[in-house]
Amino acid sequence: MIVTAEFVTSATGARDFPRDRLPEVALVGRSNVGKSRLINALVRRKLARTSVAPGKTRLANFYRVQRGAEPALYLVDLPGYGYARAAGPRGAQRDSEGQRNVGRDEPSSKRRDDAALEFSRLTDAYFGRCGANTAGPVGVLLLVDARHPGLESDLEAWTWLKSQPCGRAVVGTKVDKLTRAERARHARELDSSFDVHVPLVSADTGEGLEELWKLIVTLPKQTAA
Ligand code: GDP
Repeated sequence: MIVTAEFVTSATGARDFPRDRLPEVALVGRSNVGKSRLINALVRRKLARTSVAPGKTRLANFYRVQRGAEPALYLVDLPGYGYARAAGPRGAQRDSEGQRNVGRDEPSSKRRDDAALEFSRLTDAYFGRCGANTAGPVGVLLLVDARHPGLESDLEAWTWLKSQPCGRAVVGTKVDKLTRAERARHARELDSSFDVHVPLVSADTGEGLEELWKLIVTLPKQTAA
């Protein structure tokens, strides 16, 4: 199936968000979870920049995508959490390297606090779109690394997302990095920690991407009225 995709805008706040009310699906997750690679794999070209320095991007990037005859939608690349401490999705503990920093309170500095503030301003502004009449229907995909099921920061982000009036789902990334035994075990652990079925995908091998597209198309429609 042919996918067309174009970069539309990088938004630093609500005033920059598109106003044409297309359905949209935002991707969120810890820095390094594989968000950029996944977006590029979905659209089959290099649209999103993969992270050089995790957490550096404080912009919401909007890509307009259309797959076959399906209606166009925006894929929205939100900044990764896990870098700025104590920033949104509200209350989620940040860490940049998976489990290493989970539960540890990092020392604060002005630079870090500024980054955290900027991050939470943008995500708060973005999630204000859920259910708002200035935006089309919004769905959110929480990406989690399939190698690390049930990280505190991911679970907190999921709990927070469940309080938002938008369609939502969890997806496990980098499944190609798991052995067969790990795959079965982690799949079970992911499903039970998030209490929903968590499909597993790989940007590297393309595994699960067809199913992910189906999920993406239906996700904004799940938005609470
Ligand atoms: P982002 O910070 O969430 O945008 O993460 P990136 O897309 O930049 O990916 C972070 C790192 O994980 C990079 O080194 C990627 O090459 C790697 N990565 C991302 N997706 C996959 C995947 O599906 N399989 C494997 N093996 N590596 C991946």
